[in-house]
Amino acid sequence: MHFTEPVYRNPYWPTWPLLEITRGCTHNKCKFCTMYKGVPFGMTPMEIIEEDLKELAQDMPHARTIQLLSANPIALSYDRLAPVLEKINEYLPEIRYIYAATRVTDISNKSVEQLKKLKDLGMREISLGVESGDDRVLDRIRKGYHSADIIEQCAKLDEAGIAYWMTFLNGTGGRELSHDHAVHSAEIFSQCHPMTIGTGGLVLFPGTELLAEAERGEFDPLSEKEMLEELRKFAEQLTCDCRFITHHTISGRNLSTSDFLKDKALILSELDRQIQKGDTDLMARIRHSKRTL
Ligand code: SF4
Repeated sequence: MHFTEPVYRNPYWPTWPLLEITRGCTHNKCKFCTMYKGVPFGMTPMEIIEEDLKELAQDMPHARTIQLLSANPIALSYDRLAPVLEKINEYLPEIRYIYAATRVTDISNKSVEQLKKLKDLGMREISLGVESGDDRVLDRIRKGYHSADIIEQCAKLDEAGIAYWMTFLNGTGGRELSHDHAVHSAEIFSQCHPMTIGTGGLVLFPGTELLAEAERGEFDPLSEKEMLEELRKFAEQLTCDCRFITHHTISGRNLSTSDFLKDKALILSELDRQIQKGDTDLMARIRHSKRTL
């Protein structure tokens, strides 16, 4: 198999085989991320993809799931992506789920009809690293799109019947924008229909622009308690009928549920409990022990 470091695997599907069809990230500009710095975006040549598929077909001929790499392989145009999915189906005929992480903007170069065809080829589930629904926060972290883009592209996914995860990056607005980050994200996410919302706490990794800004006093990061308060505000305003999970969590306890609306009151009361009595040192240790996104 051919892989270019770094390789990101969705932690919820640790056994899914991986197939690198692109390397790097098309955007590579988010201020909190250094993951693909120095790895220019490019598509893997079809001969290499086919070599890897032959290997997978030998080792896992009954594979029903696969994760595409790297940061945002769905950025490929329909005309480049569809033949790759066709090849996957050719070599792995039992495939059901072709999953990839991707950017909101990667949907914009495809029509709903094209998305439906990609779904028929197996692209049934994707993860959108949305991070925020507040335009000032999105600009501040240089995410490269605005809240209107999130609504427009998610509506296309809804129409095409492709399930999607959305991430809320807790703490990204810093102290200055924390309230708007929570409230506007909940407002925008609630207008979409994600199957899952995942929340993670911002970590200022070495080498990131956001860490440099924090060191110069231009970005004021939240304390652990403020992170929880922001997350509570987000959850309180959120009305999505979806699964809700805290991955690479800021909390000492698991706040996940498969039915957010049913368990919303429980999640809010657990957040209240943690705001009052949570072990913020432990939370800080968990968060700072992370080495990468
Ligand atoms: S956060 Fe995602 S979109 Fe942003 S630079 Fe990193 S890999 Fe690319």
